[in-house]
Amino acid sequence: MALLVQKFGGTSVADAASIQRVAQRIYDTVQDGNQVIVVVSAMGKTTDELVKLAGEVHADPSDREFDMLLSTGEQISISLLAMALHALGAEAVSMTGPQAGIFTDGTHTKAKIKDIQPDRVLNEIQKGRVVIVAGFQGLTAEQNIATLGRGGSDLTAVAMAAAVKADRCQIYTDVDGVYTSDPRIVSAAQKLDVIAYDEMLEFASMGANILQSRAVEFAKKYEVELEVLSSFWRKPGTLVKEEVKDMEDVVIRGIAIDKNQSKITITDVVDQPGVAAKIFQEISRADINVDVIVQSDSKQGRNDISFTANADELKKVKTVLANTMSGIEHGEVMYDEKVAKISIVGVGMRNHTGIAYRMFSALAENEINIHMISTSEIRTSVIIKEAQADKAVRVIHTAFDLDKEES
Ligand code: ADP
Ligand code: ASP
Ligand code: MG
Repeated sequence: MALLVQKFGGTSVADAASIQRVAQRIYDTVQDGNQVIVVVSAMGKTTDELVKLAGEVHADPSDREFDMLLSTGEQISISLLAMALHALGAEAVSMTGPQAGIFTDGTHTKAKIKDIQPDRVLNEIQKGRVVIVAGFQGLTAEQNIATLGRGGSDLTAVAMAAAVKADRCQIYTDVDGVYTSDPRIVSAAQKLDVIAYDEMLEFASMGANILQSRAVEFAKKYEVELEVLSSFWRKPGTLVKEEVKDMEDVVIRGIAIDKNQSKITITDVVDQPGVAAKIFQEISRADINVDVIVQSDSKQGRNDISFTANADELKKVKTVLANTMSGIEHGEVMYDEKVAKISIVGVGMRNHTGIAYRMFSALAENEINIHMISTSEIRTSVIIKEAQADKAVRVIHTAFDLDKEES
């Protein structure tokens, strides 16, 4: 008998029929003699619709109310899934994040899980019930509901698996595993059997939304072995786990694409110590994550500073810069709202040479201009025009021999 945490994403519970299909699958797992804690996301595009609704009543809704609204999506799916299990004759009970003992910090809309007190969940499990926990939410010290950032049900699942010391955390989704690149964009992408935590982390933080990056970070920290698999077909998925020696033999594991990036350029900034610190201090105070940062060489005591941020945060960036830049001598602030980031990732980058060259030549041969570059030990990213993103990822995929054989 194993204790499993199974997470089902929005597409897997998009309508009543899907919920019944998922219920059947959970029922079968229980019939096989396992104990199951289920984590579910909101149905289909519910969260997007709630975000849109909020925008229709207020241009800049309060974070607390926004979280209160967004958390309702998951309450619909947990209760429906419990009913579907009851219909099959299974014992099941749904719980909101707070009822399941999930406590967060007070950073609304991207709260961090501080603690999980799983007593109530385990108590129900001991009674032979399936516990269905609402993903993406928890309770702050002020007794408010906070959400865990988009895609946050993955984090709920991983953190719950760590808290109850589950044998495995299974992430069921609409693809049958982690691929060398997004299969919706690269039809030649191949499914991976395994991927190291660090690779998955780079992949996820660079835009491969198959797993939330914070969930992967958590899984690595607490050594929760993750399995990504299809909720539609019954076949083996991809294991996300500790790195082993032969993983370095592969040049790159895959390519991430993030089309939701914006580039911000501040020209002719006065070249004085403390100026960059001031700008980025204000940006970080507003909880905005910036990524690639480039500062040009100083010319006549001035330089240009460019950086990228998630396009969803551009409004916040604009507000911060409008306030901050008024006190700093500079030329213009320019926004390129449509850029993409393409990243090649792999632990094999540590012991293979010429990898960046291979990526850049593939782009050059296809007349794709690189705007910015950034690297880590196991990743190289480029910023390019958004319109060229799909083509770029396909040519790089081919250049690294990642395309699957034609069948
Ligand atoms: P869920 O609703 O189950 O959480 P998501 O939409 O968050 O599902 O994640 C699954 C999607 O991730 C897939 O449909 C796929 O388009 C996308 N994706 C992006 N990169 C990859 C990749 N490297 N491998 C597999 N899927 C990927
Ligand atoms: N429903 C939330 C979202 O759409 C959380 C999740 O699906 O993981 O972001
Ligand atoms: Mg997801």
